[in-house]
Amino acid sequence: MPHLVLAYHAANVTGNDYASNDHLALAADLRTIVDAGWRLAPLQEVVEKGLGGLGNERLVALTCDDGISLDYHDFDHPSFGPQPSLRRIVSEFAEAHPQHDVELSCFVIASPEAREQLDRKDFMSLGLWPDQWWAEANMSGRLRIENHSWDHNHPSVDPTAQREQSKGRFEPIDTFAECEAEVAQAQDYIAERSGRRPRYFAYPWGQSSDYLRGEYLPENAQRLGLAAAFSCEPGLIVAGSDPWMLPRAVCGEHWRSGDELRALLAGFG
Ligand SMILES: [Zn+2]
Repeated sequence: MPHLVLAYHAANVTGNDYASNDHLALAADLRTIVDAGWRLAPLQEVVEKGLGGLGNERLVALTCDDGISLDYHDFDHPSFGPQPSLRRIVSEFAEAHPQHDVELSCFVIASPEAREQLDRKDFMSLGLWPDQWWAEANMSGRLRIENHSWDHNHPSVDPTAQREQSKGRFEPIDTFAECEAEVAQAQDYIAERSGRRPRYFAYPWGQSSDYLRGEYLPENAQRLGLAAAFSCEPGLIVAGSDPWMLPRAVCGEHWRSGDELRALLAGFG
């Protein structure tokens, strides 16, 4: 049976309709998913049953990327008004749908310096990138903090771990030292700050070098405590999927409306 992972970005708020606001999209999508006969399940269950070829249900896991505080905290947006956190949206849905085991896995940027620079340069110094909420999130039973790299090799971060400061894509992370800085260092920091060692990695922009995906992660998985990594390519997790290149469909990229999500689910289901 099909096993699917969806991705959202709490920072995607440029308006108050589905196409311009991932909070509104997620709230609508939860109803679409269950109405289409899929069951919401934790990421670990979806990955393990998918890779094992197990189960007789259509399962969907929810993820979000980058680790902005709107994942966890409600926010009064300066242009678009009150925005419920992704946590509030999934928690309220979960309370109304006890037959679903709803979790949200949050892939966060680890480096405090990177988050400070992103906040200052790209988010008007609104203070949206703290990490105090990570431990509370892990203890909530509803959210899991996972690894989205040390600095995202993001163009707004200076310097990044990339040896030649080739930024804006993640394929240039392709040596052992760079992978240690981007993955291992982030594992350790997130484990310390969140109280739990991440189990999954999401490649920034879904991109990975052959070395990171094919050598570094498989060879160091046990030491790192990682079990799999996610791309941003839509698809189902099946027996035989590469655990270091698991598919994931992204809201706003692979579907942009409730109808498009229904079509995507029908295509996979
Ligand atoms: Zn990202």
